Amino acid sequence: MDQNLIPFALQDVPRYTSYPTAAQFQDGFSGELADQWLVDLPAQASLSVYVHIPFCQQLCWYCGCHTSVPNSYERATSYVESLKRDIIRSGALSGAGKGQVKHLHFGGGTPTYLESRDIACVLTSIRDHFGLAQDAEVALESDPRGITRERAFELAGLGFTRISFGVQDFAIPVQMKINRLQPYGLVAHATALLREAGFDSINFDLMYGLPAQTVASVRKTAQQTAELRPNRISVFGYAHVPWFKKHQRMISDADLPGVSERYEQATIIEQELVAAGYVAIGLDHFALPDDALAKAQSIGKLRRNFQGYTTDTADALIAFGASAISEFPQGFAQAARDTLTWSEAIALQKSPITRGLISTAEDKMRARIIEKIMCDFSVDYAALAKQHGFDSEVLAESLLRLQPALSAGLASLEKSVLHVPSEHRLFLRSVASAFDVYYTGVKNKHAKAV
Ligand code: SF4
Repeated sequence: MDQNLIPFALQDVPRYTSYPTAAQFQDGFSGELADQWLVDLPAQASLSVYVHIPFCQQLCWYCGCHTSVPNSYERATSYVESLKRDIIRSGALSGAGKGQVKHLHFGGGTPTYLESRDIACVLTSIRDHFGLAQDAEVALESDPRGITRERAFELAGLGFTRISFGVQDFAIPVQMKINRLQPYGLVAHATALLREAGFDSINFDLMYGLPAQTVASVRKTAQQTAELRPNRISVFGYAHVPWFKKHQRMISDADLPGVSERYEQATIIEQELVAAGYVAIGLDHFALPDDALAKAQSIGKLRRNFQGYTTDTADALIAFGASAISEFPQGFAQAARDTLTWSEAIALQKSPITRGLISTAEDKMRARIIEKIMCDFSVDYAALAKQHGFDSEVLAESLLRLQPALSAGLASLEKSVLHVPSEHRLFLRSVASAFDVYYTGVKNKHAKAV
């Protein structure tokens, strides 16, 4: 790794799955306002729905998600009841059948912690109270350790079209260090069962920067992953924040690779996947050439939202579950993180929203600039500012903030067209941060760039 790039690699920068980022949301946000945003949705609005299931069978030491391991399944049963109530309440506010849900995503946690009959109940509520488009993408995150033939067929029978597995690394020493034992054979078997059940879209999540990972171990994992031919692969860097996620204290600092090795691991994974025929997508995704993400990128239609890179162009994202974030044309609304607070509000027929933000016109313009950088590696910032009714002068300070990245060769500027070379894709977030007026560069608030 070029030594000049190390300060950029060590920079704590947002993932920019939204702008403004969740760090800017205000506490005490009005649930009534979020309800009004549901009421205000246009009759023909296309919708995306996200359902958060904050439960897992076992905690992985690297986990950064909002989840827990319940003592008994009863907690999940009552959580599903609250979900159904909130879907009915929100559907009534938006006007049942107003919108057509084009994308439905179950995330977590581990959505397949729920029994299939409970997943079916939630799906039925969404179909009944929001309306699911015939050709909707219906996706869920899953744990390969829980996939049996029966489960694979149940999930396919419920209408799921896409499934994601957390794989991370196939090396057993790494899996032992992260409390997630799932040998290659187990993942290969689960993948085969899903294909047998009819899933034609399977995603794998891989990670670099984990304890005991080496360049050799990630190279082998990338090769083994490519052999199983998932349609999409996401590659995330491990964010070690033990002061924030206490279970990460089970991971010793001494076992973690340094910044140069993390960079090398990420680079080796990319090289192996591209050599195996995958197309690199944005910052950290890969897809087979015939996948919708690869096609969208090739025609400049790639988008980015809370689930990462997507083809989703919905007018609004309605999210259900503790901590889940909805995105409306007017702004963002996040439900209470604590499941008790969340379920108590719903039991009282109230909005469970506790945090959020009203987006300004300038926020929306900057959001689009940042999204273009993250998706297209290129943006004509002056043209975009004009489209949003602004003079490009409003971006003068951002251009000053961009100077270090330009000097380091991470980006180039020709008139008002900013371009990030594909070999610097790992630094997209650093370049994008120049256009983030809220970004202060303060340490330990976001994940490191690499
Ligand atoms: S399965 Fe996923 S969500 Fe659950 S603890 Fe492991 S990493 Fe976190």
